[in-house]
Parts: sequence; C-alpha cells; structure tokens
Amino acid sequence: MSRTPHAHQARHRAVVIGASMAGLSATAVLASRFDTVVVVERDAMAGHPADRKGVPQGRHAHGLLPSGLARLEGWFPGLTAEMVAAGAHLVDIGEAVWHQGGYRRRFPTGIRAPLASRALLEHQVRRRALALPNVTLRAAGVTGLTTSTDGVTVTGVTLDDGSTLAADLVVDTSGRQGRSLLWLAELGYEAPPVSEVRIDVAYASRVYHRDPAQVTEWEFALVLAGPPTGRQGVAFPLEGDRWMVTLAGMHGERPPTDEAGFLAFARALPSTEIADVIESARPAGPIVTHRLPSNQRRHVERLRRVPGGLVMLGDAVCSFNPTYGQGMTTAALQAEALGRALDTVGTLDSRLVKAAYRRLARAVSPAWQMTTGADFSLPATHGPKAPGTDLLNRYMPHVFRAAQMSDKVSLRVVEVTTLLRPAPTLLTPAMMVAVFRGSRQVRRQAAAPVTAEAAVGAAPVHVGDIH
Ligand SMILES: Cc1cc2nc3c(=O)[nH]c(=O)nc-3n(C[C@H](O)[C@H](O)[C@H](O)COP(=O)(O)OP(=O)(O)OC[C@H]3O[C@@H](n4cnc5c(N)ncnc54)[C@H](O)[C@@H]3O)c2cc1C
Repeated sequence: MSRTPHAHQARHRAVVIGASMAGLSATAVLASRFDTVVVVERDAMAGHPADRKGVPQGRHAHGLLPSGLARLEGWFPGLTAEMVAAGAHLVDIGEAVWHQGGYRRRFPTGIRAPLASRALLEHQVRRRALALPNVTLRAAGVTGLTTSTDGVTVTGVTLDDGSTLAADLVVDTSGRQGRSLLWLAELGYEAPPVSEVRIDVAYASRVYHRDPAQVTEWEFALVLAGPPTGRQGVAFPLEGDRWMVTLAGMHGERPPTDEAGFLAFARALPSTEIADVIESARPAGPIVTHRLPSNQRRHVERLRRVPGGLVMLGDAVCSFNPTYGQGMTTAALQAEALGRALDTVGTLDSRLVKAAYRRLARAVSPAWQMTTGADFSLPATHGPKAPGTDLLNRYMPHVFRAAQMSDKVSLRVVEVTTLLRPAPTLLTPAMMVAVFRGSRQVRRQAAAPVTAEAAVGAAPVHVGDIH
C-alpha cells in the first residue's frame, strides 16, 4: 500500500524526453501527479500509425506482454478495445504455436495479448496519453539540461530551437542511446555501473499481405531452434490484413536479406509455420534489419550521488534482447514504480531520484534475470552471470520438454515468460515433479514426436484451474 506524505514539494510541471513507449507510460503516471506534463519529442508525429526515425526497431515484430497491457489499460481504460477496433488481433497466448524442441501444449488460458504493428500499438497509446487534459506535446529535440547554479538540481531542458523549458521533474525516456548520462557527466556526476551481456542479436523482418479468407489454425507462431544456435522466427497477423514475419539470429548468425536466403533461414527452423507464410504470402514491403549487441543494464540504483529533478527510465535504464518481448512491458512497470516513488517521497530532490531508482531496479530485475539467464544457454553469450544460471539452464530443457505434454507446465512457461509469475515458480516441488515426469514421458515418446495438431489441448483449461 502506498503512503501519501502530508506535504509535497510543488509539482507544477514535469517534462518527459521522448514520446515512445516509456515516455508515454511515464506521461500517464505523471499526469495524475503534476499540474502539467510536457512531452518533448524530436520526431514529427503522424496523426496515424506510422514507422518513424527515432524508433527504428518499430519495423520489427513487437509483442506487448499481458502485464504491460494491463498497466496501460489501467491508465487508459478501454485502450485494449480501441486497439482491437483499430485492427489488432487479441489472442490467447496459451493458444500460440510455440515450438522449442517440440510443440508446447496449446489450450485457452485467458492470458491475452494484442498482435499489431508496433506503430499501431504506440499510436493508440500516444493518442490516449496526449488526450489527457494537462498533457501537451512539444515537437523539438532536447539538447541539454538546465540546472540550479550549484548544479544539485536539474531545473529543465534546453531545446534545439534555442529555448529552454523549466520543469520540477525531468524524466528521460530517450532510449538506449539517450544522452542525459553525457550531460550529467559534464556536470561532474558519476556514470552508473553497467552490466552488459553480449548476444549480438540480428533481426530481419518483412511484412506480407494476408488473405483474410485464408484459414490458418494458429494466429501466432514462435519457433525457437534452441541452443547451441539462437535462431528463431515469429509470424503473426497485423492490422490491415498483413502478416509480420521476423527472423532472428544470435552471435554472428544473421538472417539473410535476399528472398531466397530469408526463406531458407525460415525453412531451417525446426517447424514449418513461418516458412509456410513466407512461401505463400505476397510481400508488402522490403526485408529490413536491426542489430543489438547486448542486453544492457545501467545500475542507476547504485549511484551514490545524483542530482534532484531528473529520473531516467525505460531503455535508457535497461534494454533487453528483444526476442523475449519485454521492453515495452518493463517500461510500463518502471513507470508504475516511478509513480509509487512519487507517492511515498514528498520531495523531487535526490531523495526522490534515489527512491525511484531503487524501485525501478526491482521492476527491471525479474525480466533482466530471465532474459540474460536464457541467453546464457548459448555458449557464446558472455557477461556477468547470476549465480545458479547454469543449473537453471540444465533444468530448462526438461521444462520445455514437459511443456509438450503437461498443461500445468505449459501454462507455467507462458506465465513466467510473460512476466506474470516469477521464474522461481518453475522450481516449486510440485512443479519440479510435473517437469521431470513430463520430460521423461516425452523422451520415451521421442520416436513419435508431437505434431502441431496433437499439441492442441482436448479440453479448455483455465488459469485458475491449475495450481
Ligand atoms: C529489434 C527490436 C525489437 C523489439 N521487440 C520488442 C517486443 O517485441 N516487445 C517489447 O516489449 N519490446 C520490444 N523491443 C524494445 C522496445 O522497442 C523498447 O523497449 C520500447 O520502445 C521502450 O523504449 P523507450 O521508450 O525507452 O525508448 P525508445 O523506444 O528508443 O524511444 C526513444 C524516444 O525518444 C526520442 N528521443 C531521443 N532523443 C531525443 C531527444 N534528444 N529529444 C527528443 N526526443 C528524443 C526518440 O525519437 C524516441 O521517440 C524491441 C527492441 C528492438 C531493438
């Protein structure tokens, strides 16, 4: 439960740098706690869903996890329905085709996520955030920070038109390449320690036309080759009768960008759904690429000296291997954590900033541990490794195997990977019994592997039915 202090330092204006998913989540949280919020974004914003320069990753598959959707829906009631009305497909994640050494058992779980282009997801959230009565968008680039003469408080930002914008709190959500650390260094502040887990992820994506009359018995397909290769692919329907197909490789494996190579990469995956889409559908655009060298976490919670009035949030704090689809959700969780810090600390000085960073770290840690832990299942991954990671990575193949026949394990895999439950819930005694029993059974049946059809559960199972 949050504790409301008796008196707050004046909260007239908050300035948010960047109108991407972290910035919009932060805006939602700040709008109910400040008189006004000004979102400063250097990209021109179209009045409709559109890719843009400041978010180059937006041209690739973007999954919004249920816990991220729940936060956004809480701030913007009716948002999910609006996304669906705009063409998003709301799917039950339990029903997804998910191949990881075999087909995970499929059944309805009630855990839903919207499938749409990143441009549409962001557009819908932006529309709602900017419709808040005390929120305005300023089309400008932020070029620096203004501070009090003693340098202990950030008092606003400077803009590329030469003007300044005063703020009681600046929230930097300008992304992984955000420059506020540089600006702080110029003011004599230390940089936070950084954890870097190197993965060298390469994406190649293409949008295809989708015949609405064509029936597939799945709406979302995720195919992972598993260790030692990090090859994988995903296909799902987008708004406007289109498919999104994204292929990914790690540690030097790059999905080709020529037609034949793109298809061959998909065909080499251990199941056929994605290659079948590529082969049967008409391209609606070029093959585009993106690379990310590492999971990167800036340990802002370990900073000893911070100025008041500035909080970094979103990818600026932690950016993950995108194949786990956690960035937008973790940005929402961080924004929620900032809100809690604002509700418990009455000032906006360094006490607030440090309290916010402690909470942000707690919001980020589960996703960081899960993502980097899974990445260490590939021998080429290197960087700081949490204790117990190798042991867990010896256990996980049993989990994925058991998930091919056990609804209980399959559901838990969905819950953990979508951040609805913490990873240690895979290690309870009851779960371990189910995992090893299921794994043994699947091994015994290895001569007759499970097909996509056989992986569909006979009877609907709901989250509440499984303990
Ligand atoms: C290839 C790829 C695929 C991904 N897939 C997923 C996925 O499936 N699911 C998921 O949840 N996440 C995914 N992510 C991560 C997700 O895109 C980010 O976590 C999410 O956008 C939140 O980032 P952010 O808002 O902190 O920063 P960004 O999205 O990087 O946005 C930064 C914003 O700040 C603006 N900006 C920058 N500098 C300035 C300045 N000086 N002045 C004004 N504005 C400025 C930029 O224009 C931009 O709008 C993926 C990432 C990549 C790279």
